Amino acid sequence: MTFGNNELGLHALCWVGGWSETEARQAIEGTARLGYDLIEIPTFDLDALDIPMTVRLLQEYGLKTGVSLGLDPSMDVSGTDPEAAHRGEAHLLKVVSIARDLGAERITGILYSGFQKYFHAPTPDGVERSAAILRRVCEAAQPSGITIGMEAVNRYETNLVNTAAQARAFCDMVGAPNIGVHLDTYHMNIEEADAEQAIVETGDQLVYFHTGDSHRGYLGSGSIDFAPIFRGLARIGYAGPITFESFSSEVVDETLCNILGIWRNLWSDSEDLCRHAIAYTRAQLVSAAAAGRPATGHIKGVQTHG
Ligand code: MN
Repeated sequence: MTFGNNELGLHALCWVGGWSETEARQAIEGTARLGYDLIEIPTFDLDALDIPMTVRLLQEYGLKTGVSLGLDPSMDVSGTDPEAAHRGEAHLLKVVSIARDLGAERITGILYSGFQKYFHAPTPDGVERSAAILRRVCEAAQPSGITIGMEAVNRYETNLVNTAAQARAFCDMVGAPNIGVHLDTYHMNIEEADAEQAIVETGDQLVYFHTGDSHRGYLGSGSIDFAPIFRGLARIGYAGPITFESFSSEVVDETLCNILGIWRNLWSDSEDLCRHAIAYTRAQLVSAAAAGRPATGHIKGVQTHG
C-alpha cells in the first residue's frame, strides 16, 4: 500500500445510530456499495455488539472493519481512582478480543483517558498509569496483529492528548511496537497551529487518519483547507486508512451524540453525504500526489538538452 491507494473508510454513525441486524446491514451494504474499503464500528456497549452477525455481513459485502471508542469517565484509566482504572483496563482488553473476533486491524480513539470535558489537567501519576495500562493492552493486541491508535482530540473531549506532539510523546511513553498516532482533521483544526506540519512531524508514527470538516458536516463545506492536509499525508507517504467522520442529529446514538455535542442537523441524506465524501477524498489524494511529483523542467516550445 502506498500513498494514494489508501484504504478509504467510513464511520458507521454516518448511516445508523444502533447496530441491530437491519442497521448493520444498512451501514455495511451502503459503505461497500459506495466504494469504501472499510467501516469503523464504534464499540461503546460491548454486550450489545453481535459479533457473528457483524462478521457475516462484513464477509457478505467484502468490507474490512476497524473499531473505535472513547472510554466512559467511569472507566478513566488516567484518573486518581484505581477502581475506575481497573474497569478501564478490563474494558479495553474486552475490546481487543472483540476486535480480534471481528477481524479488525486497528482499535483507535480516546483509549488513554475518559471521553469527556475535564475541569483539571492530567496528573503525572495518572499519565503514568494510563501508559502502563495501554502497554498491557498493546501486548494483548499484538498476537492478533492489532495496532492501537491514540487519537489526538480537542481539549473539550480529553485533557491528555490534544495535539499530534502529545500523541507522539504518549506513544513513546507506552513504548509498544503496535501503538501509533491517530490524527483527525476536525480536532487538528482546533488544536494545531499548522496541520500539515503536525502530520509531517508525526511521520511513520501515524497509523490512522480521520477526515471531518470544521462543523463535522459535508467534507469540504466547512472552513478546513484540506489541500495542505493531504499534501502532508503525501509528504510522509502515509499508506494507512483514511476514514470519514460526520455527525448529524439525523442519526442518533445517545452515548456518542451527547458527548460530541451533536445538536444540529447538518445533513439528512447519508447516501449523498457519503458518496460526496469518497469523491472529495479521491480528488484530494490525486491532487496531493500530483503536487509531490517533480516538475519535468521542460518549458513548452523550448529545446532542452539531456
Ligand atoms: Mn475522530
